[in-house]
Amino acid sequence: MRTADLVLVALLLGAAMGVVFTVLVQAARARAAAATAVLEQHLPDGVAAVLQTLDEPAVVLDGSTSVLLATDAAQSLGLVAGRLLAHPEVAAVVDDARGAHEPRRAELVLRRGAVGTASLHVTVRAAPLGVSLVLLLVEDRSDAVRLEAVRRDFVANVSHELKTPIGAVGLLAEALDSAADDPSQVRRFAGRLTAEAGRLASITREIIDFSRIQARDPLHEPQPVALDELLAAAIDRSRVAAEAKSVEVVRGKRSALHVLGDEALLTTALHNLIVNAVQYSPPGGHVGVGARVRDGVVEISVSDQGVGIADDDLERVFERFYRGDPARSRSTGGTGLGLSIVKHIVENHGGDVRVWSRVGRGSTFTIRLPEAAAPDAARPRRRERERV
Ligand code: ADP
Repeated sequence: MRTADLVLVALLLGAAMGVVFTVLVQAARARAAAATAVLEQHLPDGVAAVLQTLDEPAVVLDGSTSVLLATDAAQSLGLVAGRLLAHPEVAAVVDDARGAHEPRRAELVLRRGAVGTASLHVTVRAAPLGVSLVLLLVEDRSDAVRLEAVRRDFVANVSHELKTPIGAVGLLAEALDSAADDPSQVRRFAGRLTAEAGRLASITREIIDFSRIQARDPLHEPQPVALDELLAAAIDRSRVAAEAKSVEVVRGKRSALHVLGDEALLTTALHNLIVNAVQYSPPGGHVGVGARVRDGVVEISVSDQGVGIADDDLERVFERFYRGDPARSRSTGGTGLGLSIVKHIVENHGGDVRVWSRVGRGSTFTIRLPEAAAPDAARPRRRERERV
């Protein structure tokens, strides 16, 4: 075949493929439009209008438990994923109500995000609507459950953590009294009294801070948080501690990544990790802070080449008031609450925090959070979701 013929054949083939492709796309569009029309027809008159006025999470599902309509509150609570319910436990209550032809109610604890162990405490009510539809109403009780935990923990922390230093203050006051005639002993006991008082003040401050953080739900009205700004703010806040120890905090490349949540809380979490990395580094050491994304999960890491953490301690460092080496921790002014605050904040953002460490080599703490769209790209997405 001559070259000119070959070119002609290739052109004809290209044109034919173009036509086939266009027809396929048109057909797919028509099918999608027909499907939407069918879904809309399913809804009894007035149901959509009534649901639009609800501030509460509500969803209408068809005979195959596909979502026909979801209120904004249901979307933002993460109950719906595309045309399906995000949690199989909720779908089971819906199926149960449809099968029994009568309303069903259940108290459920649902997974909150793609990573981490944070949970939602909800009461779900499912009621048949006509022949095959089901109306699902969800009451989010997470706030009430969280506040009850805050109250319980506050009482437990205060009684457990304050008992020892208060006891010490009492004993030192008695010792001071009986050493009244010996000026050097008076000075010694007074010095220890001042140290215990300072310690009491910092524990009390941390317990109050922790209770405040526990009481806030960062995903109630989440905002897109730019990681570049988050890293800059947390590093800036750690500057005094780093300068005091002559440790250099080195920041990784800018990333343009975003996560959803409360910027102030996330800054506190990252700041706690950086301050720890500085405290447990030798003078003149380096601390690295960086962010990257992998499979839709943002990873913010803080690395040091400091003392490292022994294997036995590694599993426990996120526990409240746990201190790996109490003597060292006392000299750094630590209370053992820093990492439990980090864990709490990150889990409430639907993420988790991990640690790698070797004694004598250093540690890397990594906060993992679901990636969010940049603010400009997020807005059209929200409108798209409201159409479900
Ligand atoms: P603290 O106030 O004692 O620093 P944290 O909750 O922040 O309390 O940390 C708990 C324990 O974890 C610390 O006492 C310390 O033993 C260990 N730790 C935390 N971060 C580091 C780090 N970067 N390097 C070495 N040990 C660390």
